[in-house]
Amino acid sequence: MNGSYLIKPVLDADYPVISHGKGVFLFDKEGRDYLDASSGAVTANLGHGVQEIITAMAEQASKVSFVYRSQFTSEAAEKLAEKIAEMTKGRLEYSFFVNSGSEATETAMKIAIQHWQEKGRPTKHRIISRWMSYHGITIGALSMSGHVARRARFTPLLEDYPAIDAPYCYRCPFNSTYPSCGLACATQLETAIKRIGSEQIAAFIAEPVIGAAGAAIAPPEGYFEKIKAICDENDILFIADEVMTGFGRTGKILACDHYRAEPDIIAFGKGMSGGYTPIAAAVVSEKVIEPILNGSKSIMSGHTFSANPQSCAVSLAVLNYVDENRIAEKAEETGRYLSSLIKRLLTGFRFIGDFRGKGLLLGIEFVRRQDTKEHFPAAAGITSLIIETAAKNGLLLYPSAAGKEGIGGDAVIIAPPLTITKRECE
Ligand code: PLP
Repeated sequence: MNGSYLIKPVLDADYPVISHGKGVFLFDKEGRDYLDASSGAVTANLGHGVQEIITAMAEQASKVSFVYRSQFTSEAAEKLAEKIAEMTKGRLEYSFFVNSGSEATETAMKIAIQHWQEKGRPTKHRIISRWMSYHGITIGALSMSGHVARRARFTPLLEDYPAIDAPYCYRCPFNSTYPSCGLACATQLETAIKRIGSEQIAAFIAEPVIGAAGAAIAPPEGYFEKIKAICDENDILFIADEVMTGFGRTGKILACDHYRAEPDIIAFGKGMSGGYTPIAAAVVSEKVIEPILNGSKSIMSGHTFSANPQSCAVSLAVLNYVDENRIAEKAEETGRYLSSLIKRLLTGFRFIGDFRGKGLLLGIEFVRRQDTKEHFPAAAGITSLIIETAAKNGLLLYPSAAGKEGIGGDAVIIAPPLTITKRECE
């Protein structure tokens, strides 16, 4: 395989070898430079080579890099949990640290199930979710995901969790339009709960802005408020998957703060460390943890690297940076500016179906015909062609899918580091 023993996403493809990164730019060993306009996989939120984070990393490494979670806690882990409680304004106070977004959503799922078990309602064990969603690649997380292509090979192993449609106004699943639709996509949750039975359901999980499975789809106004009310009426916990959106990406610290719908559990990842280290978290409210605290006193989950002090110190430095430099506000402002530039750039292209997003999580959906919204044939590989052409020209974008039911469709995500300047946007 090209003289390489590394298993790469496409096994026999040639990938550029990266030499270093600085700010919003990456440089490969051949001397080419790339504008990292997708922050990798919407992860490098602060860009590359931030000195404060490098210093925190070195300082922690000189103290201790690893302790095991059942033997010790660490100053870094304690402070990080405190920082997250502060940044979520004390509403979600308790953090369980893991290593990836998939582990975070899967831990959220397990905590939700355990919450009801310890309240004496063990039949509440199902998690329902939406099609056109992505919550991770491990089997539990994939079960909750409505990303058809990523599920396909493993369907026999998956619980069939996605139960409702996504709030995808560009191709409304109900062939309706907002607001006359009456938010049918939210009401569908009520129908699903009636069919399955609320005594079977522990939680509902959703991304506040859909990422990988929809290219930056934000719901219409009132959607999450309705969803949350339905969850509350049926004793169902609301899990917000903020793995892609958390810590400033959409112009607020939490994407949930765009809505008046308080989550009971949040899954964080990606932006928690800006890619400087693998770390993620399931963060829960007092209400969620209380029955466990009064019962078994232990959450049945965890990983060897959970709450790793090295990763916690790096994440703490990242979150301090986000806070002190008002990164969320900057993302909101730069997002508006970048959107206006992109809109101008796209005018006149026949194959642009939709341009959307929030803050610096933006998406473009491509269509063969604007009037019918017809997709390009899958075999044309339009998304790959666009990604490859952009990369050849020094611009990194992130591929997405955006077809009805989460199947097919061509789209890309534009999500540069939140530190990008207006000049760099231009
Ligand atoms: N949840 C969301 C919303 C994501 O976007 C992702 C990854 O793209 C995940 C979960 C899974 O995170 P990871 O790839 O770190 O396991």
